[in-house]
Parts: sequence; structure tokens; C-alpha cells
Amino acid sequence: MSVSAPSRPLREGLFRVDPDGLLASRCDACGSLHFPPKRACPDCHGDAVSAHALGTRGTVRSFTVVRNAPTFFPQPYVLAYVELPEGLQVFTQLGGVEPEAVQIGMQVQLSIEPIRKDVDGVTDVIAYRFHPVEEGE
Ligand SMILES: [Zn+2]
Repeated sequence: MSVSAPSRPLREGLFRVDPDGLLASRCDACGSLHFPPKRACPDCHGDAVSAHALGTRGTVRSFTVVRNAPTFFPQPYVLAYVELPEGLQVFTQLGGVEPEAVQIGMQVQLSIEPIRKDVDGVTDVIAYRFHPVEEGE
């Protein structure tokens, strides 16, 4: 990730950089993973959870094209459920792809990147998207 403007993460504890990865909560008692991370385990109600970096390559399981919504983002854009190697599905935007080219089963790669400007118009808000995996990657 290279960022020159001032920046802030969309939310603390959601991802890490260098190496990039989404941070799930992993239950110390039953091992279940949740993203976005939870303070306690919704499965066994254990309250001891640790941050766990998830795999960065996934598969598009379902998606929708947003063409008309009140939002910061240029439209149309694609929202998808991406399944990661851990079996977790992450709700995310897809980047670097035309909506017409998105397919179920497409391989995608995590990208931690600026997704919009903050309310001050200067600061980059950093979050995550998934981009199609290029041939040969
Ligand atoms: Zn648990």
C-alpha cells in the first residue's frame, strides 16, 4: 500500500498492513472465527477472543451491482460475499473490475487501500476491497 495524503483506517482493528490482512476475532475457547471481529464469541458466548489474520485470496460466492444509492462511492460499484480459505464469508466491495465482468467463482485478492475521502475532503479513509486475481498471479 502506498499512501501520500493523510489517512486513517475506516475502523481500528479491522485489518493490518505489511503484510496486509483482514483481522477476524478467533474464540480462544471454541476456535470460531468472525469478521468483522467481535468482542465476544457469538457461538459459545466465550469472552476471550484474539485477533487472527485471515487469508488474502478468496472466491466470489455472490454479488450485487449498486447503481443508485446514497453513498460516497462512484457508481455503479459491486458488493460481494467473498469466501476466504478459512471458510468465512466477507461482505466487501470489489475493485478493479467492471460490474459486467464479475462472475460467481471468480478468484479475488485482498487490497488495503483508500476507499474515499473523509469529511474534511483531504484525509484518505483506508479500508479493504478485493480485486480480481490477474492471470499468472
Ligand atoms: Zn466460541
